[in-house]
Parts: sequence; structure tokens; C-alpha cells
Amino acid sequence: MDTFTVEAVVLKTDDFGDANRVVTLFTKEFGKLEANAYGCRRARSSLSGALQMFNHISAEVSRSPKVDTIREADIINFYDALTADLERLAYASLLFEIVNRMTFPRQQELETFDLLIKALPVLSKRNPRVAALIGACQFMETSGVQLNFDRCVHCGREIDGDAAISLLDGGAVCLECVDTAQDVRPYPEALRRTFDMMLGFDWQDDTRLNFNSRQLKAAENFFIDYVQSVLGSGLHSVQFIRDFIIEVSMNV
Ligand SMILES: [Zn+2]
Repeated sequence: MDTFTVEAVVLKTDDFGDANRVVTLFTKEFGKLEANAYGCRRARSSLSGALQMFNHISAEVSRSPKVDTIREADIINFYDALTADLERLAYASLLFEIVNRMTFPRQQELETFDLLIKALPVLSKRNPRVAALIGACQFMETSGVQLNFDRCVHCGREIDGDAAISLLDGGAVCLECVDTAQDVRPYPEALRRTFDMMLGFDWQDDTRLNFNSRQLKAAENFFIDYVQSVLGSGLHSVQFIRDFIIEVSMNV
């Protein structure tokens, strides 16, 4: 049987049967990869600790015509804080769901793998809402479906000051072209600056991020709408965030 080793992040897990799990890995070598892990939910299984969501692992996988199987897995890094804190869990899940749903199996994407590796410690230590949004914004950029934030998609003019933006047309629309665009919404300069900051964010730089909560909320709402319009359906983690986190933060 053909066996290979991968370095990966655990993107998603789904239980099946008594003790098994389908594990979706985002691997350095092959991009997204789904494999079965038999018996991994038994306490004595050597796989049980490693195959948890958000873990950075190395794994040995056997290929078969029907389904790949994880034989061994070792933890390289793990992030306790992500599962111990509901808000961190919710926002890390949001980034992971976006990556999972917007990537195709077995297409190597090193930039996406690097992004996940860099985003995990930041999600587990700093403001997870900001980190998830930056991660999603940078992921859309590397996956080639980003909106054009800086130039009018109709006339090509550089956007200066307040403008409009259209998800259907693929980005910013200057005020002179706004009548010919479809489904436009406001695109204030502050939102454009927020997107610029997010795209230019360096994960290793721990200087304070200058987002005010209104900017952040506007960017988040906008971005989630955009991702959902690309996917053509809702994100589960968004529902979770809206149902629980917002309620919790209002009660504090
Ligand atoms: Zn224009």
C-alpha cells in the first residue's frame, strides 16, 4: 500500500461509527486532504490526541482507491486556548470553515498553509475576531477571488475618498460609475483603509492593531456577506457567532 507523510493543520473533523473520525487536513504537500482515522476516538488510540481541530501535526497516510487512511499522527503544535474559550473557538472556526469551503481537495496551496500556521498562534493569543477577519481577508487575496478594493471595476480609476462597492461587479465603484453598477452599497474611505491594513498585516508583528469597533464591525459584516455570496450559502460558524457570542458580549 502506498504510504506518505504530510505536515498538516486539522481543518475539520466529523465523527462516524463508534470510534472513527473523518479528518479534513490542510496539508503542506497536497492542500486539502480528507482521510479516515479508524478507532481514533478511543482513549488508548495513539491518534486521539493529535487529530483534534486546529492542531498542527505530522501524519502518515495510506492511500487506497476508495479512501485515504491516517495511520499515525504526531503533534507539532497545539493551541489549547482555541478550544478553552468560546469566542476564540467561534472565530477560529470561522476562518477554518472559510478555508475548508473555498478550497478544492488535492491542490497544493502553500500560501494558504502558511497563512493557517501563522494565524493559529495569533488567534489563540490576540483578539480572535480581528485575527479571523484578517485571516479571511488575506486568504481571499491568495485564493484569487478577492474584490478589487482600490480601483473602480468599471472605469479603472483609483478610488480616492468615499465610493461604492458591488459584490456582483467584483469590487469598488467610483461615484461617477455608480449609476451603471449593480447592487451597490456604501464604501466609505474608512472601510477601504481597514481592508488595506488587514491585507498588509504581518502576523509576526505584535504591535497594537488600530481598529475601532465600528470599523471592525463594518468590515466584518461586509466580508461575511461577500464570502457567503461567493459560496452561495451561509457559513455555520457565522450563525454560531451571531447566536452565542454577540449575546454573551452584550451581557458583559
Ligand atoms: Zn468608475
